[in-house]
Amino acid sequence: MTKKIDVELINIQKRFGSNVVVDNFNLQIEQGECISFLGPSGCGKTTTLNMIAGFLEPDQGELIIKGKRMNGVPSNKRDLGMVFQTYSLFPHMTIFENVAYGLKLRKIAKDEIRRRVSQVLELVKLPHVADRYPKQLSGGQRQRIAIARALVTEPTLLLLDEPLSNLDAKLREELRDEMKRLQQEIGVTTIFVTHDQEEALYLSNRIVVLDHGKVEQIGNPWDIYNRPASEFVHTFIGKSNRMTGIVAQVREQDISLRTDAEFALTALRRERVFAEGEHVSIYVRPEKINLYTEAREANGSNVIQGVVKLTSFLGAYTDYEVDIGHTSLTVRIQSAQQQMQLSYGQTVFVEWKPEDVFVFSGKRNH
Ligand code: ATP
Repeated sequence: MTKKIDVELINIQKRFGSNVVVDNFNLQIEQGECISFLGPSGCGKTTTLNMIAGFLEPDQGELIIKGKRMNGVPSNKRDLGMVFQTYSLFPHMTIFENVAYGLKLRKIAKDEIRRRVSQVLELVKLPHVADRYPKQLSGGQRQRIAIARALVTEPTLLLLDEPLSNLDAKLREELRDEMKRLQQEIGVTTIFVTHDQEEALYLSNRIVVLDHGKVEQIGNPWDIYNRPASEFVHTFIGKSNRMTGIVAQVREQDISLRTDAEFALTALRRERVFAEGEHVSIYVRPEKINLYTEAREANGSNVIQGVVKLTSFLGAYTDYEVDIGHTSLTVRIQSAQQQMQLSYGQTVFVEWKPEDVFVFSGKRNH
């Protein structure tokens, strides 16, 4: 069964002066989906969200919410719930009054307001704070209240702009879990703006990766991680080791590469078309590299000898910096798998499979 489309962006463009900050943005969001806008600072995430919210008007294109064209419709007529980075609760109102505010504006009956506010405070697990003022709550609690306030009107669409970024690491994780639970429980269509790739992978059904106002890729977290549409997407999502080199030979199943340091590597051939002799960037993620203390047969895999330069124990895993001559690779080994203790200066062999190599045209300057 095909799901209903709740939100549609058609060729949306926004300029500030001559600066095009959102270009040709096309997206359909299904009912109940949680979509993240992910990208570095200045890529146009907030500008896009602000156009959906009605704080900014697009210069071109159409915005459709629940089948209705929203261009020119004021924000308060768009049936939205919003949560921002700063808590934005009214300091002189109690938590009850803060959460009830949107319902009062809609002239809902007092009993109904009381019922809905206590229901939503239960939902964010803060039923006991109704009589307090915002300053009497912790940062995490305030942000939960902001979420409760956004949900109480049962909006068509929930817009969240970096709602976790003012919280410390532990609270961030807690609230992230909480938001996932809430989003799934209520099933409200949600757009979540973040520059944190882990948060986006964790929370969303689909991610829109943006760079310089352009959509680089739209996909589910697995696709974004495993089938990046561009070098930008691959490097923005998670850590990766980069080498440069040329394409030596293109075969039916795979391609041979020669790195600038003269290592011969094999990569699985994907959809991308490469010419022999073409300059390329070659990537392999730290967690895809195996580490051995004994020499190994390549057997169709990629094997390079190196020397351990740095060991960083990080609890669940250990990162090793392995010098392979001209460059070094980060290798991430899960603690549970680790049977060896490696020390500085030790000779090791790194190995990874052709399917774990990502190749992109040209040498991007970093
Ligand atoms: P951040 O995470 O830093 O907020 P972002 O991806 O949300 O980044 P936007 O805030 O959408 O980025 O900004 C995109 C671009 O538009 C930036 O280059 C920014 O400087 C510019 N910009 C945003 N608002 C305005 C404005 N009112 N006038 C002029 N330029 C603006």
